[in-house]
Amino acid sequence: MRIILFGSPGVGKGTQAKILSERLNIPHISTGDILRSAIDKKTQLGLEAKKLMDKGELVPDDIMIGIIRDTLQEERCANGYILDGFPRTIAQAKELDDLLIELNMNGKKIIVITADEEEIIRRLTNRRACKVCNHIFVLNEIEGRDTCPNCGAKDSFYQRSDDKEEVIRKRLEVFKNTTKPVLNYYEKNNKVIYVNGFGSIEEVAQRIMEKLE
Ligand code: AMP
Repeated sequence: MRIILFGSPGVGKGTQAKILSERLNIPHISTGDILRSAIDKKTQLGLEAKKLMDKGELVPDDIMIGIIRDTLQEERCANGYILDGFPRTIAQAKELDDLLIELNMNGKKIIVITADEEEIIRRLTNRRACKVCNHIFVLNEIEGRDTCPNCGAKDSFYQRSDDKEEVIRKRLEVFKNTTKPVLNYYEKNNKVIYVNGFGSIEEVAQRIMEKLE
């Protein structure tokens, strides 16, 4: 199954993508994680991407399309994947359509997770992640702990530098102006599945699984 998971920053795409990836046994491809890994490794891409990401801006389309072109051709993507964070612009969506035709990858499912803006800001400011396994936590789940409950790494929690309130507002603005129009693009030629992102992680995961069946 090929899934495009769509929704505003902070709506829970990453968390749900990880669950879906385990349940459906297909890889979770997060362009944000790929960029953060390049930043950790201090590659040229990482250095350039960091400047934009820290301001809440998008990394240029040609770079992102190159990353997706390489990734989708990896063996692990042969039986499907969950795309999280791509496409984010109409140009990316169009290039992805062409790429999927070229690679003979038919039948994508587009899932949109929805939530209101106040809830999103609250979630993002309370979000922490593990540097080692990328697992995402709500602040109160890890308060007072120094080891990651998911992978056992010590002192590995961090707040993403783009999860500060002023950067969050910028990311939401970029979403409204540049990424939301991608949905209109998809709605013209595809069936788009909407899922309410309000509720517990498991409730939302159940809703997605039901709609996929
Ligand atoms: P995410 O982890 O999906 O919230 O992405 C974090 C940041 O990485 C975004 O705010 C962008 O700066 C950058 N990014 C991730 N995916 C893309 C993409 N498809 N196009 C452009 N920039 C991206």
